[in-house]
Amino acid sequence: MSVLVVGSLALDSIETPFGSVTDAVGGSAMYISAAASYFINPIRLVGVVGGDFPKEGFAFLEQRKIELEGLQVVKEGKTFRWSGRYHYERDTLSTDLNVFESFDPVIPDSYRKSRCVCLGNIDPVLQRKVLDQMEKPRVVICDTMNYWIDRKMKELRDTLRLINVLILNDSEARLLSREPNLIKAGRVIRGMGPSVVIVKKGEHGALLMTEQMVFSAPAYPMENIFDPTGAGDSFAGGFAGWLARTDDMSEENLKRAVIYGSTLASFCVERFGVEGISDLTYLQIQDRFREFKELSRFDED
Ligand code: AMP
Repeated sequence: MSVLVVGSLALDSIETPFGSVTDAVGGSAMYISAAASYFINPIRLVGVVGGDFPKEGFAFLEQRKIELEGLQVVKEGKTFRWSGRYHYERDTLSTDLNVFESFDPVIPDSYRKSRCVCLGNIDPVLQRKVLDQMEKPRVVICDTMNYWIDRKMKELRDTLRLINVLILNDSEARLLSREPNLIKAGRVIRGMGPSVVIVKKGEHGALLMTEQMVFSAPAYPMENIFDPTGAGDSFAGGFAGWLARTDDMSEENLKRAVIYGSTLASFCVERFGVEGISDLTYLQIQDRFREFKELSRFDED
């Protein structure tokens, strides 16, 4: 299955207990497309950057063989910027939409038949505009965050009606559903449109919920999380990449996709920014996937 990825391309300034970076290449589309590219080609990107987007950013995407026909470069504009600080949780320090404020996502003709659409965390109005231009995708996977739940709830609910899989973290699931219990929250959110809801719980793993099942995926036990930025998007990319590679939406395969998502997220947080997912081998991914399997395997007696 060909994959279309839409999302932010960003310059991130990040502070963690291990160090800090300024204007590092990031953004939801960057992480999603890189993570998915380990499983399937082509990955087609739609997004926008300003004239200040650095050469390394383009080089990174090219190295991962991402198709860039849908990438708009607004020479006189500034790239989306985000800054955050991590202590036990994450604080967003600033969000400057810049070129995203006037972004009109135009899907190139050659992208319109993509069968898997992955809507990274951006304005739900833009996510909707993308879907309006697609020709019957087989699966639409969507990510969002508190920034949009707080500001664009109505528009987000319109988008949710059109998607199959929603991926969000625990606090976002509570905010969106107004329900503190995550199982009940999953049910409320499924009532908004997506038949599959995945709630990420950071270092406590992830919950996959459909009408018939709740699957609890373990988290990879890590002592040092170098930089959590992009973990959620790498998860979404690994999940989407595996589904697209296998073209199988069965419950067993959704579980595998969640573990591949967790695998890519675990590599992501081991290094700063996109570095952790810049240069993996398929063998490394397989080895860690198997470690995940061992983590929750036990004998009955
Ligand atoms: P994650 O850690 O997976 O939730 O995603 C981190 C990435 O999301 C960073 O690279 C940011 O540039 C990007 N990001 C943060 N806030 C927003 C926002 N409001 N809209 C789009 N992308 C964002």
